[in-house]
Amino acid sequence: MNSSINSKYIQPKTKEIDVEEYVHKILSGDRVFLSKAITLTESTKEEHREKAGEIVEKCLPFSGKSIRIGITGIPGVGKSTFIDNFGAFLVDKGKKLAVLAIDPSSVKTGGSILGDKTRMEKLTLLDEVYVRPSPSGGNLGGVAKSTHEAIILCEAAGFDTIFVETVGVGQSEIVVNYLVDFFLLLIIAGAGDELQGIKRGIMEMADAVLINKADGENLEKSKNAKAEFTKAMHYFSESDSGWSSKVEICSATTGFNLDKVWDIIKNYETYSKANNYFNKKREEQNAYWLYQTIEDELKNKFYHNNKVIDLIKKIEKEVKSNMISSFEAGKKIIKIFTQNNK
Ligand code: GDP
Repeated sequence: MNSSINSKYIQPKTKEIDVEEYVHKILSGDRVFLSKAITLTESTKEEHREKAGEIVEKCLPFSGKSIRIGITGIPGVGKSTFIDNFGAFLVDKGKKLAVLAIDPSSVKTGGSILGDKTRMEKLTLLDEVYVRPSPSGGNLGGVAKSTHEAIILCEAAGFDTIFVETVGVGQSEIVVNYLVDFFLLLIIAGAGDELQGIKRGIMEMADAVLINKADGENLEKSKNAKAEFTKAMHYFSESDSGWSSKVEICSATTGFNLDKVWDIIKNYETYSKANNYFNKKREEQNAYWLYQTIEDELKNKFYHNNKVIDLIKKIEKEVKSNMISSFEAGKKIIKIFTQNNK
């Protein structure tokens, strides 16, 4: 074969970056390596996840020293505008900010997606800010777990304030509670609670409810909504932290009351550190991710087990035609799996 043709097909071997190098670069604040490491946590390939696990493990002692803030609300409520301006406000105060996003439905090719840089024009220009869009595809549990790892990596890279953005239209705002210290719910006045997904459970979870777009004609309406929500919150049971949720109005576009939002978060931090809830919640979150990991790994091993792959379709057919009960069939195949794994 002609050597010039041949050489065309020889791909230069990309240098395998070792774990030590990743850790060293991340600790020195290198964003390219931070991004690459986060990509590894999002991968479905086992060898990538193994490597990500080792990197996270080594970064762990350098993590934890941040405030983690969850921001949720329905599309259109003003999350990206809020993050853009509130983020810039915090950078002005000397903060280093990482913005992560959870949106299992996001598809990178179309529409606006959470954490998308084009949605946060100010932040994109700031050196003190790292914006990471939500990984596309994947299930919520998987995306959330990799976000937990991404938080650790960002903290090790020196970010002291972490935003985790989620869309408040399903389970994602619940899972964010296993990731953050403080949970901020953005709503708008007069848009209807049902429409905004404001269910009692979510309201009870929120450490602060922010009524956004309190500007222009909307200001009065927002003030009234604040009074109403404040009254409603009195009927909620006391939260585990002992903190009573705050209700505030703000305008993400004009910047009105953004300083108050920061005061609320700082007050919460002082309060929950004083009564040790801050640490307790993080400990509980670590335990939660332990059990999630065990479940994921077991499931993964189970469905990739050759014997299981061979048998499961056959057993499914038997279950469908009532030859065997689902319960017995499940036990049978798990028995085959465990025997196969001894
Ligand atoms: P997201 O989908 O929750 O991220 O919402 P966006 O930040 O994209 O905002 C949706 C629309 O609301 C945009 O047209 C924003 O300009 C507008 N918006 C966001 N915050 C405010 C605000 O505080 N006041 C007003 N008047 N408009 C806002």
